Order: sequence, then C-alpha cells, then structure tokens
Amino acid sequence: MRKTGIRMVLTLMLGCLLCLPAFAADEAPVQPEGQTLIMQIGSTAALQGDETISVPAPRYAANGAIQVPLRAVCDVFGWELTWDSALNQAHVNGDLLVFTQNAWHCRVNGRQVGLSTPVQNVSGTLYIPLQALSAVEGLYTHSFGFYEGAYLVMTDYALTEGDRADAPNAPYAADAPDEALAACREQALEKLGPNTGLFDTTAILLRCDSRQAYVGDALRELCKVGEGVMPQRSSTGAVLLPLEQTAQLCGWQSKTCEDGSITLSHGERQVAINPGKQTMAAGDCETVLQLCVIDGVLYCSVPTFRAAFDCEITVNAEAGFILITPYDVTARVDLQERAWAKGYALVLARYDGAKGIIALTFDDGPSGKITTRLLDGLKERGAHATFFLCDYRIRSFTDLMGRYLTEGHELGNHSANHKTLTAVSSSVLASELDLTSQSIDRLAGVNPVLMRPPGGAYNQTVLEAVGKRGMSCIMWSLDTLDWKNRNTDAIVKKVLGSVRDGDIILMHDLYATSVDAALRIVDALQAKGYVFVTVSELAEVRGIDLSAGSVYHKMPKQG
Ligand code: ZN
Repeated sequence: MRKTGIRMVLTLMLGCLLCLPAFAADEAPVQPEGQTLIMQIGSTAALQGDETISVPAPRYAANGAIQVPLRAVCDVFGWELTWDSALNQAHVNGDLLVFTQNAWHCRVNGRQVGLSTPVQNVSGTLYIPLQALSAVEGLYTHSFGFYEGAYLVMTDYALTEGDRADAPNAPYAADAPDEALAACREQALEKLGPNTGLFDTTAILLRCDSRQAYVGDALRELCKVGEGVMPQRSSTGAVLLPLEQTAQLCGWQSKTCEDGSITLSHGERQVAINPGKQTMAAGDCETVLQLCVIDGVLYCSVPTFRAAFDCEITVNAEAGFILITPYDVTARVDLQERAWAKGYALVLARYDGAKGIIALTFDDGPSGKITTRLLDGLKERGAHATFFLCDYRIRSFTDLMGRYLTEGHELGNHSANHKTLTAVSSSVLASELDLTSQSIDRLAGVNPVLMRPPGGAYNQTVLEAVGKRGMSCIMWSLDTLDWKNRNTDAIVKKVLGSVRDGDIILMHDLYATSVDAALRIVDALQAKGYVFVTVSELAEVRGIDLSAGSVYHKMPKQG
C-alpha cells in the first residue's frame, strides 16, 4: 500500500531540476533563491540546503499516508507556528495554515482541504500530512524513491516541470528536469547516508532451510499451494532461492500461464520466466537463466535473482542468511549484523512442528567404548548432543575427538581435572579452563563456547573467568541422577515423566546404564515428535544470543 502510494507520486513526477555541483559551470542552471528541505521516512537526519539537520522522523500513518513534522518544516521555511491549546489549533504564519489536532481537514490560505490522515500529536511532535503542505501556494513537495530511500523533497521554488506547470510564474526553471530530482537523491545519500529507518521496515531476510522470512519486522511464511517452501543449498553449497515465492516477498505479483511460464509484475515492470527454455524476458530483452526445479518448486541462484528482479542482495553464506535490501548494504556492516542477529529467530524446517526441542548433555567424557556406543546410537537416530569434556579424559581417548563434530555434536569445557572451581586459586581456575579448551581446539578444531562447571559449582569469579574466555555457563533443567542410580529404567522413567520443551538434560557418558537410557529416551521422545539438538542449536532455534559469562538452565519457547 505504501509502495503503491509512492509509486503513484513517482509516475506523476515527470521531471525535475536542480543546480548540480557536478555540472560543468557553463551548463549549470541559475540557482534560485530559496530553501530546499530533504527528509527521509523513518529517519531523523535531514538536509536543509547543504546543511545536515536533525528532525523528528517523518512517518507513515496506519493507512500509508506520509506525515511530516510541522515544526521542522516551519523552521526551515521561516514560518511562524503558534499553538492555541484551548482550541487545540495550530496557526502557521497567521492564517496560512490552520490545523486542529485529530481533525481530518485543515485550512490552507482560507480554503478547506480534506486530509487522508488527521493532524496528529505523536509524543509531543505535531505531524501533518504531506498532502496539506502540497496545498500551500509557493511550496513544492515531492516524495520519491521508495527503493532508494523514501525521500521527501520540499522547496519554496519550482523544482520540476510539474511544479512549473502548476505555477507558470515560478521563480525557477531548469534544463535538465529528469536529472534534478535524482541529484537530490545523490546529495541526500552522500550527506545523510542510507536510510536506516527504511532498512528496518523493508529489508527482507530469508534463511536456507527455513520456511520463514522477515519483511521488516513482520514474520512471513514462504509457501506454494499450502506447502512450505524454503531457500536451499546446491550441492556446491551455493544458495538457491525459490524464485516465485521470493519475488512475492519483494512485492511482485505472480501468475502461472498454461504453458508453464510465470509472469511476474511489479507496478509497470514485468518479467516473464520460462522454466522450460530457461529464459527470462523483460520488455524486448531475453536472457538465459540458470533455473532448477526441486520438489516442483522453481529455484534460481542469488545472482540470477538479482539480475531478474533488479534488487540488492547480501548473503551470509556461513549461516545461510539472504538479505534483500532497499539499497546496497555491502559496506554497512552494522545493518548486516542487525539482520543476522534477527535471522537466528527464523526456524529451520527441521524444527517445524516439533513437539519439543531438547538438548541432551553428557559430562565427564570421553569414555572409550561407552562413548563410542553412545555416538553410534545417536548417529543411527539422527540426534545431536553436547559433550562437556575434561582434559584428563581427553588425553586418554584422543582417538574419539575426531568424531563429535563431524557427527553434528557440540563440545564444551568441563574443566581439566574435574575440580570444584569455586574452591581453587585463580591460577588453577585459569589452567583448569585453558587446558581443556586448548585440547579441544587442538584435537577437534574448535574453541568451545560452552562451559559446565564440575558439580555445577560456580560463583562470580568463576563466571568472570569463563566469560573472559568467551564461554557461557551451561547448567541444566533436568537432572537424571544417572551417576547415582545407574538404573536404566529409573533414568528413562524420570525423563519421560518430566521432560519439557527447551530442557537441557544432564547425563554422563561414564556408565553403560546411562547410554542405554539415553538411547531409549531418544527413541521414545522422537516418536512423540521431539527433536534432539546441541545447546548452541537450541539457543539458535530460540533466538537466544548466548552471551559470554552468562548462565543458562533451559531454553523454552518464548511467549
Ligand atoms: Zn562432571
């Protein structure tokens, strides 16, 4: 709705002009006397002439109409603003503009003008619809470039050919109207930087193997006739986008024709995709595409999508995030990171519809044959777990160290010699943590980010030492007491009787009874729809950013 509104304005604006510093001196039109104000929707940064100023952010009303902060406009154009609190009425320059708060009309030069959104007081700032300003004689307003930054340009001289048509005696005319408004954009981009407000409301974030996506802050499902669809990886690891569904997220309307070709349209733009011929036609231009079909859904690569739909895409290959943005954000690490942080809340398809997500954890290993049997059993069942290892055990069973990560498990630090960390000196505390992390790093190739203190004993000193090493302290929410009872039935009964979604279950791969129980628990709970993941995976599914030095007991679904 917003997009359409602005595009309509865009199509109405045929030309524009502005004195460009870049123009050669002999081509430069005469700069008129007057003020130029450029604002961005959702952003407090604005331009008054060449000066950067701060304004309350222009905003969209619920119905998509643009509202601008009245005081800021008055300041720039030298208008006097008075507020009559008895009448709830504002007067600008005497009776030039008369507004009543929450009224759907106003008076402009004595003439009544209906408004698409009322004059509103938002946290002490009076906002008026752009429409009302457009009605002021001698003031020219333009909104343009939703995909380029949602700019509002206001001048008290005629900026475009359209402005001149409205006011033939306007003090300014130019030779290059098409380039002038674009020049405003260039100038605004250069001086104000990209519009982060627009980024927050329009950036689209997808994730490989997730049926969910974010459009701004709105969570959307990707689907085709009720079936979930998701971005995937090719055999070489490249990201593949479901073409039609991704285009729909970007606001394109799609229509499948009888011959199997797909027509996508966005305003006046139209693209026809022919999957059989692997071609795309836009206007007279036909391009060959690389398309593939997976389970009846048409996929394309990121470069193909970018070319077909003319959009900006940034990929975080490691996490499998795909970010489609209103403008190029390759240089904006802050914006990318904001998106990636949000992306972890997108649920991977393999967790869709899970009855519960559980993290099994095993302490005090590795333990030779017992661990081997456990790893075999978990592998057979496609279950992941987290192993908190001690360095003195690692040294006895180095040959096991290559298995954990390749089979999808996670490794954590459980001290070097299983000492009670609250009762040791700071130098012993340091070596207890460092020896184990170094061994895991050397033998498994990963620096652990999880730590479980032996006996669950921690205090502020321990947490600080753990946090300083980039690790979180992982406790548990369900204690099987397997080390004490060494009774398979008792362990299984306890877990099945009390397990809840998001539980972190404490076990030890020291005893055959624990391994037997763990595998029976996995069988029983998988049959009920539970999924077994590592602690970091659980955090990721739950959108929890594990922080170093913090303590976690469980990670149930939020809300
Ligand atoms: Zn232990």
